[in-house]
Amino acid sequence: MVRFTTESESESVYHQLGVTPVINAAGTKTRIGGSLIREEAADAMRAAADEFVQLSDLEAKASEQIAEIAGSEAGYVSPGAEAGLLLAAAAAIAGDDPKTMSELPHPTDAPNDIVMPRTHRTGYDHALRAAGANIVDVGTNDYHLGTGATNVEPWEIESAIDENTAGIAYVQKTYTQPDLSTVSEIAHRHDLPVIVDAAAEVPPIENLSRFVEQGADMVVFSGGKGIRGPQTTGLIAGKRRYIRSIAVQHQDMHVDRRVWNPPSSLIDTEQFDGVPRQGIGRSLKVGKEELVGLIRALELFIEEDQEALVAEWETLAQRMASQLAAAGVETTVVTGGEQSVAPRVVADIAGSQSTLSAAVLVAELQREDPRVYVGEDRIDEGEIVLNPMCLDEDGAAYVVDRLLTHI
Ligand SMILES: *Cc1c(COP(=O)(O)O)cnc(C)c1O
Repeated sequence: MVRFTTESESESVYHQLGVTPVINAAGTKTRIGGSLIREEAADAMRAAADEFVQLSDLEAKASEQIAEIAGSEAGYVSPGAEAGLLLAAAAAIAGDDPKTMSELPHPTDAPNDIVMPRTHRTGYDHALRAAGANIVDVGTNDYHLGTGATNVEPWEIESAIDENTAGIAYVQKTYTQPDLSTVSEIAHRHDLPVIVDAAAEVPPIENLSRFVEQGADMVVFSGGKGIRGPQTTGLIAGKRRYIRSIAVQHQDMHVDRRVWNPPSSLIDTEQFDGVPRQGIGRSLKVGKEELVGLIRALELFIEEDQEALVAEWETLAQRMASQLAAAGVETTVVTGGEQSVAPRVVADIAGSQSTLSAAVLVAELQREDPRVYVGEDRIDEGEIVLNPMCLDEDGAAYVVDRLLTHI
C-alpha cells in the first residue's frame, strides 16, 4: 500500500486543490478517508464508468459474492456501513409490506422498537432512528464499577421484547456483552432479526462469516475500512427475507409493473400487487462504479495473505515503539488478538519529557502540513496511540520524526 512518499508529496492532488493531505497513523477512520482503496479496485471503477448496467443485476451479483464469503443466504451493498444500518432497520420494521415501506420513517402501525443493550448505544445508532426505529435500551453501566456485575443480562433483553418490537441491535467489538449467540437465540425465539454493526471488525477475514455463524440476521461491515474498497461502500450479509426487503426499499422503483424485471434472487416481484414506491433507501444510492470497486476489493481481500500483512504491521509497530522508547517515551505494543488483528503502539506522553499534554500534541500534529493524525482515544490517560494499518515504512518514520520534534 503506497500511502506516503516524500517525492509524491509535491504532486498531491489535495495540495493541488489547496487542501492539506493527511499522514494517517490513526487507523481506518472515516473522517480522514478510511483506508486507501486497492489499486485494482480503483481500476475496476474506472472501467465500470465506461458502460451502462442494470444496477439490480450488479447488486444481485454482489449479493451472491457476499453470501459465499460470509456464509449467509444473501448480501447487499450499501453506501457505507452507517447506511447499511439504516437499511437493515428499515427491513426489520417494514419486512415485505409495501405500505410500511412507503411510510418510513413514520410507520403508522408496524412495530418499530429496536432493543439494544445500553452499552451498545453509539452515535452510529442515529441510522436506526433515521429509518423510523425507536431504540429501547436495556441494562446498566455496572461493568465500569469493577464490582463483577455485567452490563446486561440476557433476561433484560428478553423482557424488553413486546408486540411493538421489530428487532434487536448489537454492536460487535471484542469486549461487547452478552455474546452474540445468546442474543440471537433470544431474538429467534420471538422471530425477530438481530442487526449487527461490525463496521470496523475486518480484518480478520474470518469475521466476515463469524457473526453470521453466531446467528446474526443482518451484519453490516464498512467497505472502505479494512477491506479497502471504495470509501462510500458498505456491505450487509444476511437472511434472504431481509435482504429482499432492503433491495425493494433501496432500488429505484420508478418503473411500470409490466416491465419491472429485477433479478428474482434479489426482488420477488410476484410478492407485490403493484410496484412499491421509492423507499427510504432511495436516498442512499450506490453507483455502478462503487459496486464494481467493492466486488473487486472483496475478491482481493479474501485472497490476501493476512498473516504476512499482520506481520508487516507488527514490524512497523515495533519499530515505531523502539524509536520512541529510545527517545525516552514509554511505549507498549498492544497486539490485536484473534478477532481484531491490528497491533497498536500506546505511547505515554504525560510520562515523557514532552512539555505538551497528549491532547495539545495531537492537535499540534493535526495542524501540520501534511496533517499528522494519531489515535486520540487515550488522551485522557495522557497517551497517544499509533496504528500502523494505514502507514508504510516512510509514513511510519515520518510520524515518529514529527512526534519527536515535540518531545
Ligand atoms: C466506521 C463505523 C461505522 C460507519 O461506517 P461507514 O462505512 O463510515 O458508514 C459504523 N459503526 C462503527 C462501529 C464504525 O466503526
